[in-house]
Amino acid sequence: MASPTPDAAPTTPDPAQRSAIIEDVTALRTSFDAGTTRPLRARLAQLTALERGIAAERELLLTALAQDLGKPRTEAAITELGVVGQEIREVRRNLASWMRPERLRPGLLLSPASAQLRREPMGTTLIIAPWNYPLNLTLGPLIGAIAGGNTAILKPSEVAPATSAALAHLLRTHLDPDWVRVVEGAVEETTILLEQRFDLIFYTGNGTVGRIVARAAAEHLTPTVLELGGKSPVFVDEGTDLKTAARRIVWGKFTNAGQTCIAPDYLMATPRTIEKLTPHLLRAVRAMYGKDPRRSPDYGRIVAERHVDRVLGLIDDDKAILGGTAGADRAERFIPPTIMTDVAWDDPVMGEEIFGPILPLLAVDGPEEAVARIAAGEKPLTAYVFSPRREVEELFAERTSSGSLALGMTLAHVGSSGIPFGGVGESGMGAYHGRAGFEVFTHAKPVARKPLRPDTLRLVYPPYTGLRKALLGRLFR
Ligand code: NAD
Repeated sequence: MASPTPDAAPTTPDPAQRSAIIEDVTALRTSFDAGTTRPLRARLAQLTALERGIAAERELLLTALAQDLGKPRTEAAITELGVVGQEIREVRRNLASWMRPERLRPGLLLSPASAQLRREPMGTTLIIAPWNYPLNLTLGPLIGAIAGGNTAILKPSEVAPATSAALAHLLRTHLDPDWVRVVEGAVEETTILLEQRFDLIFYTGNGTVGRIVARAAAEHLTPTVLELGGKSPVFVDEGTDLKTAARRIVWGKFTNAGQTCIAPDYLMATPRTIEKLTPHLLRAVRAMYGKDPRRSPDYGRIVAERHVDRVLGLIDDDKAILGGTAGADRAERFIPPTIMTDVAWDDPVMGEEIFGPILPLLAVDGPEEAVARIAAGEKPLTAYVFSPRREVEELFAERTSSGSLALGMTLAHVGSSGIPFGGVGESGMGAYHGRAGFEVFTHAKPVARKPLRPDTLRLVYPPYTGLRKALLGRLFR
C-alpha cells in the first residue's frame, strides 16, 4: 500500500548544526548516566512542568495549529491539548504504582527463590513526529519517555512549521534541558540525528520514512517504535442504527479535514445499506459543517498545497455525491467534505491512504466479503465495525488483523489513556498511551534472587551419576 511521499525537501545544515546536535545528544546521555531522570519525584516534576508550560503557552500553541492546519480552536483543544493534558494526569496518578516492581513466581524447581520485574529506563531516546497532530504526536510520546525515566530529543515536523517553533519554545522555556531537547528541521537534521546512537527511537509518520528510521536504528541495534498509517476500513452492517453510525463516521472522517492516521479511510456495506445510509451521511455533514463547510469555523484545512493536489487527484467527480474538486480552493488549502459512491476496488482513491476529506463508499455482499477484503490488504492501523450482531463483531475480531478494532465508534478509542494505541505489520510496531507508553519506554528487567543456603542447585552439578542422575531424569522428563 503506497504511503504519502515524505514532504521534506533536503536542506543543508551548516557544520555548526551538526555539532550542536551531537552536543545535545551527549548532554542528554551525560545527565541520564548521572541518574537525573530516575527518581519518581523528578519524573512527576517534569510532567507537572510540561502541564504548566502547555497552560502558559496555550494561546501560542492554538494559534500555531490554526496557522499550520487551520485547526479549529475547539477541535485543537480536544484532539491536541486536551488529549495530552489527560494523558499527563493519568500518568501522574499512576506512575508510582507502575514503577513498583512486579512480583514474579520463579516456580518450584528454583525454590527457594524470589523474583521481580523491574521497569528500567531505556536511556536517551529520540522522538520524531509528523505534522497532522503536530502537538499531540510530539508531546504524547514525550510523556511516555519522561514517565519511563528517559532523556529525550524531540524532532517536530517541519511540515507544520509554526507548531514546530511553538513546541521548541514551550519545551526550551518550561522543561529541564537535562531531560528534553528539541531539534527543529527536516531531512538533513533528522539524518544527522539518526546517525547518533540512541536507546530507543519512537517514530510517527509514513512507512517510507519508517523504513529509513528502522534501517538507521539497525546500525546501533536500537529498538524502534513505529507508529505508521494505512487504509483503516469501516464496515456498516444491516440493522445498525444508521443515523448514529453516520454521525460517528462523518466526525471521524472529516475531523482535521481527514488528515488523521486512524480516520475511517473507506466504507463497506451492502448496496441496500449504502442506499439507506447515504442520506444520513449527507445530513450528518450538513449538521456538523453547515451548508458551506468553507465558512464553518469547525472545519480544518489541508497542511500544504502539494497535499491539496495529491488529495484532489483521488477525487472522481462523476462519483462524488457530496463535495468534489469544483468546490476546492488550492490557495486556501480547502477541500470540501467529499463522499464518493459506486467506488471500485481499483479506483485511484483505493490505491493509497487517502489522508484527506474523501469518503469512498464500496459495495460488498456482506460481512464475509468485507473481512476477506481487509485480509487481502495490508494490516490497517484500525478497523471499524458498526453492527447490531455480536457474531459479526466477533468475525472481524477473529479474522482480521489491525492495530486496533473499534466497534460502534471511530477515533474516540484513541483518546483513552486506558487503551494502548499502535499498529501491526505495515501500520507499525509497538504501542503507547497510559501504561503502554510507560512500558514501551522502559525495559522490563527480571531480577531473580536465590539464597546461597541451602544449595539446592547442587542437584544439577555434574557428575551425573547414581541418585542425582535418577532424580534429574525424573524432574526433567
Ligand atoms: P512528515 O512528513 O511530517 O514526516 C514525519 C517525520 O519524518 C518528520 O519529522 C520528518 O522530518 C521526518 N522525515 C521526513 N523525511 C525524512 C527522511 N527522508 N529521513 C528522515 N526523516 C524524515 O509526516 P508524514 O509521514 O507525511 O505523516 C503522515 C503519515 O503518518 C500518514 O501515513 C499517517 O497515517 C501516519 N501517521 C501515523 C500516526 C500513528 O500514530 N500511527 C499518527 C499520525 C500520522
